[in-house]
Amino acid sequence: MSFIDEALKANQTYAKTYDRKLGGRPNTKIAVVTCMDPRLSDLAGMLGMANADLDVIRTGGPAVTEDVLGELIVSTRVIGSKEIMILNHTGCGFTTFTDEEMNAKLTELTGDASPAPMRFFSYKDPEENTREQIAMVRAHPWIAKEVPVRGFIFDVETGLIREVQAAGRHATA
Ligand SMILES: [Zn+2]
Repeated sequence: MSFIDEALKANQTYAKTYDRKLGGRPNTKIAVVTCMDPRLSDLAGMLGMANADLDVIRTGGPAVTEDVLGELIVSTRVIGSKEIMILNHTGCGFTTFTDEEMNAKLTELTGDASPAPMRFFSYKDPEENTREQIAMVRAHPWIAKEVPVRGFIFDVETGLIREVQAAGRHATA
């Protein structure tokens, strides 16, 4: 049996005690943009909130792409999120290669260069990544000015989250 088949079997058991109230319309508190890395999966535990309070948008890195910006707009304007949290982390897999290297490696491995150059949104420094992301989200004209946009780094070794100050913030505040 595959892992997915096993998971589907477990779902039958899950549904027996499922709280049907969870199927109601969501009204979230925070929109969280974070990495697809499984070490970032226990967000409710990390942040001391219910799963229902968090609207979670996950990408590799994370990368704040055009899609992510669209999702943040919907999260704050339609779903109900009041604040935006961008959560990077230490030890990210996306810091272990460059897009150029990955394109070359996959072209060699498969013998097919047709998808290249593919964007993987690799990066080097989580702090710099976070600052750029805060600026990008903050600058979007469709994200309401009264919605706070803050960036953080989760340390996978200690479980602690620390805030990254937005670029130029020290100069104005
Ligand atoms: Zn990551």
